[in-house]
Amino acid sequence: MHIEEICLLVGEKYLLKNVVANKKLFINGTKNNSYDKINLYEFSQNYINMTEYELGIFLRLITLYFYKHTSKNMNINNFIERLSSIKLKKYISLLRKKGYFVKPIKYSVITIKTSEKYLRQKSSKVDFKDKELSNYIEILEDYCQKKQVFAISAIQLGIPKRIIYIKNTNKELVERMKNKENQTKKYAELRVLINPKIIKEKGLTEYWETCASCLNSMGHVYRPYEIEMEYYDLYNQKHRQVYKGFEATIIAHEYDHLDGILHIDKADKTLIMNAKKRKEFRKTHRYNIISK
Ligand SMILES: [Zn+2]
Repeated sequence: MHIEEICLLVGEKYLLKNVVANKKLFINGTKNNSYDKINLYEFSQNYINMTEYELGIFLRLITLYFYKHTSKNMNINNFIERLSSIKLKKYISLLRKKGYFVKPIKYSVITIKTSEKYLRQKSSKVDFKDKELSNYIEILEDYCQKKQVFAISAIQLGIPKRIIYIKNTNKELVERMKNKENQTKKYAELRVLINPKIIKEKGLTEYWETCASCLNSMGHVYRPYEIEMEYYDLYNQKHRQVYKGFEATIIAHEYDHLDGILHIDKADKTLIMNAKKRKEFRKTHRYNIISK
């Protein structure tokens, strides 16, 4: 099979076909060069506009290429299966073992700018037999540890599965920590809600929400004050829990992502505002409980 076909297959596997097809970031180079001789880091530097997200794709494609050329008689489907089950850390060390300098893979959030269509899909239920589950969690954890977010849904990082990863839902604590660098880990809760289902809602709140996937779009959204939710933890144990106040707002926002719904869809008013202006705006437009 030709390398270009492999690239497309991998692209499809990760549902990143658009990115790969639009940028042709990898395919162009394959025509004349042997990647075995190219320093990956140098290569990525040639693509100045390449985002970390694209770099991640590129590294995957490269890995696939190496597998293809180093293991004889390997079926392409096995290849892709194997590749997708590789843990991030293992994956990086694998490339390093081959003598390549590899930047750590960082995941960037999929945004309405990069692929709104992708974000609008309905995520599928997690199967606890899925060998990739721990890999998904690792990706979510990796992202949330580095970024200042309350929580994230797996779909936002390119994993269309019903998983919500909660980093922190204490608004005051997050705001305080935001002003101090390198303290992000201190407010990490690391809760994972798998296949969640909202079974009851009560009360009403309003908040000008933002979303890592919606860039500078703020939306004024009404949400229930209280939600009761059923979910599974990482060990396939079922839980039933009531969330109140700001925590309920965050979880309801993330829950919507699983069905492809964005906060700007639910907002009665939207505004475009950068982070600095938002900070000012929030002083006069706070989270508000209308009824309990
Ligand atoms: Zn969001």
